Amino acid sequence: MIPNVEDYYDPGRFERMRQFAQGKETPFLVVDTAIVGDQYDELTHAFPFAKVYYAVKANPAPEMIDLLAARGSNFDIASIYELDRVLSRGVDASRVSYGNTIKKSQDIRYFFERGVRLYATDSEADLRNIAKAAPGSRIYVRLLTEGTQTADWPLSRKFGCQPDMALDLLILARDLGLVPYGLSFHVGSQQRDIGVWDAAIAKVKVIFERLQEEDGIDLKMINLGGGFPANYVNRTHELSTYAEEITRFLHEDFGEELPEIILEPGRSMVGNAGVLVSEIVLISRKSRTSLHRWIYLDVGKFSGLIETLGESIKYPVYTDKQGELEEAILAGPTCDSADVMYEDYRYPLPLTLAIGDRLYWFSTGAYTTSYSAIEFNGFPPLKAYYI
Ligand SMILES: *Cc1c(COP(=O)(O)O)cnc(C)c1O
Repeated sequence: MIPNVEDYYDPGRFERMRQFAQGKETPFLVVDTAIVGDQYDELTHAFPFAKVYYAVKANPAPEMIDLLAARGSNFDIASIYELDRVLSRGVDASRVSYGNTIKKSQDIRYFFERGVRLYATDSEADLRNIAKAAPGSRIYVRLLTEGTQTADWPLSRKFGCQPDMALDLLILARDLGLVPYGLSFHVGSQQRDIGVWDAAIAKVKVIFERLQEEDGIDLKMINLGGGFPANYVNRTHELSTYAEEITRFLHEDFGEELPEIILEPGRSMVGNAGVLVSEIVLISRKSRTSLHRWIYLDVGKFSGLIETLGESIKYPVYTDKQGELEEAILAGPTCDSADVMYEDYRYPLPLTLAIGDRLYWFSTGAYTTSYSAIEFNGFPPLKAYYI
């Protein structure tokens, strides 16, 4: 089906983005910054007790950083380059967490020298590096989590450690003169099963208790990560339902007095605010009797749509054209056969579509511009406008 605009955007806002897009050469992303502001307000309203650390990688545009900084957000940073970007917008280092568990010693030092005092880790070698390069800092240990099957873009295996190792690391942190501060996890991006937070929070609770009872270490913080949804073809629960359930899980395990709670939203903060505007370059069939078209666009896997890898994220694809629908394979413009967005999952699109028509990719504000290649086949990086 062609998506209904109203299911994804306030119609007035969508019309404004479309007007803005008129006459501009495709492809490009348009982000309605007011939607990002609304998402931030909705999240902080739904989790009034939590501190937000925006995951900058989702969309590192200065416009996003400025808007979220003005609203009081903190920032989850993965590299010295993201750090420079955020500090250059006037954000104080006390609002930054170095959330990447994979880091060079000299980069830890760079963060420390600029005033960052909150670090994630999941291994002994990294922890020892932090103790040397960022002495006295607060440490939180990232746990491995389940939930790969129900996350559209899983982030597990590569990050986090088992609870036993988390215990060891937090004790070692204390012995190395660091502050054992808390625990974190990420249940996988675009996580559709809210229950996985329950299992993760239960693991956290066990570690809090063990450290308190056996080692006299009082952890102060739980970082619940990202995983909150944007609106794609496969719908999810509303953010308010995530918040109600997760809040209930927290109170079940920790009672009335919760530790400090951190959220690290990326996708849910900026995803719904974007529309990627593309143009059809070519329509073809591979045989005289083929029952489906190949529709080639001026945007593809290498120009912002990398999350179509494995057809993981299914963006709603919209056209103004109407009429009888027929399945199509959607592919990008480059000379790489991996540059096919959807082949197994066939998008039904109108037979009236013609070369030069525009296709609008909904909910593309997250993980598009930041993933775009810089010059594969000479195509420039994805342009973006913030209105
Ligand atoms: C990518 C990432 C996030 C953001 O996740 P979303 O699912 O996009 O909200 C949060 N925390 C960490 C450590 C990440 O790597």
